[in-house]
Amino acid sequence: MTRLQDIAAQLSGYDPSALPVAKAQEFIARLVPRVDAVESLPLRSALGRVLARDIVSPINVPASDNSAMDGYALRARELAAEGPSAFSVAGTSFAGVAFDGGVASGQCVRIMTGAVMPDGFDTVVPQEYVQVAADGMVTVPAGVVKAGDNRRLAGEDLRLGEPALQAGRVLRPADLGLMASLGRAEVPVFRRLRVAFFSTGDELRSVGETLDEGCVYDSNRYTLWGMLQRLGVDLIDMGVVPDDPAALEATFRAAAENADAVITSGGVSVGEADHTKQVMAQLGDVLFWKIAMRPGRPMAIGRIESNGRQAILFGLPGNPVAVMVTFYAFVRDALLAMSGATASPLPMLKASTLEPIRKKSGRTEYQRGIVSQKADGTLQVAITGSQGSGILRSMSVANGLVVLHHEQGNVEAGGWVDVLPFDGLV
Ligand code: AMP
Ligand code: MG
Repeated sequence: MTRLQDIAAQLSGYDPSALPVAKAQEFIARLVPRVDAVESLPLRSALGRVLARDIVSPINVPASDNSAMDGYALRARELAAEGPSAFSVAGTSFAGVAFDGGVASGQCVRIMTGAVMPDGFDTVVPQEYVQVAADGMVTVPAGVVKAGDNRRLAGEDLRLGEPALQAGRVLRPADLGLMASLGRAEVPVFRRLRVAFFSTGDELRSVGETLDEGCVYDSNRYTLWGMLQRLGVDLIDMGVVPDDPAALEATFRAAAENADAVITSGGVSVGEADHTKQVMAQLGDVLFWKIAMRPGRPMAIGRIESNGRQAILFGLPGNPVAVMVTFYAFVRDALLAMSGATASPLPMLKASTLEPIRKKSGRTEYQRGIVSQKADGTLQVAITGSQGSGILRSMSVANGLVVLHHEQGNVEAGGWVDVLPFDGLV
């Protein structure tokens, strides 16, 4: 297992007291292990889970050439180049019940969508193009089809032996359908990641309790719960832990013994007087970073251990907006990687800002924005007023995060900025 200081030594320009977001992400990517236990699940239970093995197609899909239309199957070379061509109908091929008679030249076969193409037939004329006479003869005008039209080829969706889905994929509805089309009833997925989380701070009260003088309700445990729930991990909610060394140690130990990752909020600020940092450091290999970002400057990262069991620790700042921003900037991708998922960078939108944005170069800023579409179809974004890191309402009214990159400076009104949309993310 690589020690934290060795990972740090491998990163050029690593500075724990002014760490660029990209460096912190790289560090974390090198730190986190992946689950390797695999379980087999019925198809529907695998939605949202991470595929653990490549799925190779055991069959051609479709299994035979078949028709894409209701119409008449024929041999294209029997169509006259000019003027209409007439065919007699040898029989009908239905989806699921193929025509199995012989076909002489000058004959066609009535065919339904999905029905197997008769041997040697290469083209389907949609029924709306033909005229059927009283004696059953079918007349096809010249030029309505080319050879191969309206025919689906065997294996055109998936060829026998071809990888249909790759390990590391988070399974989506189409993937379930695809695997069903291969006749698979069960799929191998990685076991779910177990994530423990709790809040620290003597001023915190849980919902349902009375709010004493100088106290605030613990909101972070609810935002974290929501974000983790969306990631599909198993959750262990360890509540609010007071600023007491024994209580903190017992909670951290239980978390390290039962979870793959532990997420805390609060108590990691520089100069923090409480015991959170001290207990974290004592239970493992933990770094305390100052990240060049806003909000979310302080963060603890590392491994904690108890009775031979380990967990990755993400010690997030306490401010409610900082918790969400650091989660999306660092924790989300790390937990997906730990779950066995192949990295899929979050999609950014480009929007023009409605107002000038003040931004200091040398740190990444995440401002809350409301994106809307302009008449010309492009996007615009308005910043949601005060950007204080304690103002959780700014996250609630926003529909995206305006990401102002490390090197970026002030942006003028009308300038383009990157926006991370919440839809699909939260
Ligand atoms: P800290 O990082 O512990 O210094 O906390 C920074 C600010 O976030 C303080 O104002 C805390 O009261 C507040 N805070 C910390 N944890 C929570 C929480 N779980 N819910 C709401 N606010 C919190
Ligand atoms: Mg605190």
